[in-house]
Amino acid sequence: MRTDSDTWDLASSVGATATMVAAQRALAASASLIDDPFAAPLVRAVGYDVYTRLVDGQIPVTGDSEFDPDRMARGMAVRTRFYDRFFVEATESGIRQAVIVAAGLDARAYRLPWPAGTVVYEVDMPEVIDFKTSTLAKLGAEPTAERRTVAVDLRDDWPAALRAAGFDTDAAAAWSAEGLVVYLPPDAQDALFDNITALSAAGSRLACEFVPDTTIFADERWRAHHERMSGLGFDIDFNELVYHFERSHIVEYLTRHRWQVSHCTVAQLHAANGFVYPDDDVAAAFADVTYLSAVLGG
Ligand code: SAM
Repeated sequence: MRTDSDTWDLASSVGATATMVAAQRALAASASLIDDPFAAPLVRAVGYDVYTRLVDGQIPVTGDSEFDPDRMARGMAVRTRFYDRFFVEATESGIRQAVIVAAGLDARAYRLPWPAGTVVYEVDMPEVIDFKTSTLAKLGAEPTAERRTVAVDLRDDWPAALRAAGFDTDAAAAWSAEGLVVYLPPDAQDALFDNITALSAAGSRLACEFVPDTTIFADERWRAHHERMSGLGFDIDFNELVYHFERSHIVEYLTRHRWQVSHCTVAQLHAANGFVYPDDDVAAAFADVTYLSAVLGG
């Protein structure tokens, strides 16, 4: 269970979820659905056995198993393409600073075609940031933008740390908070968006997901699925990692704070990518997960 000052690395607690999604990106990359050559080596370097075996294709798919690597790959491809497109379009509009909040093992600073002069800030816990920096250096990877790391707990004064790293509050920025907000308590979620708004010049952009009801992780449909996946070694229990208290509706919250928000559900995003959204209990429980992007008005 979470505490106010808990910490982690990439194989424990919330940090392990970064390894999990990177493993899913590796599956999507190996199916040629996205371009991320760094996901698999990063996952192998973490050394969390089940995810290493997942990226290496060593987990057998049995007849009655719910484990479906193709489904994982499509689900993560949809998400990765959404954020990739968000950043590419932001830079096409002239934005030259990006902030990847809760960057985890996201390698966008090393793989997107950032225009010359773009600065990409990556914010996450110190152990997560340090691991990615050193592992990608050992792999010989070079950032495709000026990458600046901000190693800080988002429950602390991260805006001060971001400013100290050179963030320019007078220039528009593109912000992502991918796979993050459910791991923040409701007041920290509001504070996150308050801080982003306060740091953002007009024309800044923001992308994130919204899980309207985190009790789905305690829902019988998800618990039954989790039990079956645990049998294969996928033992991360989201129910213990997310905060279930009632939280602000992100679309409404941002709209009240001068953001013009566009949004679509994960099911709609599958359709937009030419994928059929799965038709079962677990998919139904998550069907209203929402992807949103927003532009800050003047
Ligand atoms: N955005 C990355 C991606 O999609 O690959 C990582 C997503 S992972 C599911 C969640 C990330 O949130 C982890 O990297 C974790 O360290 C980060 N995170 C959660 N709470 C945090 C906090 N209080 N401070 C800093 N990072 C946090």
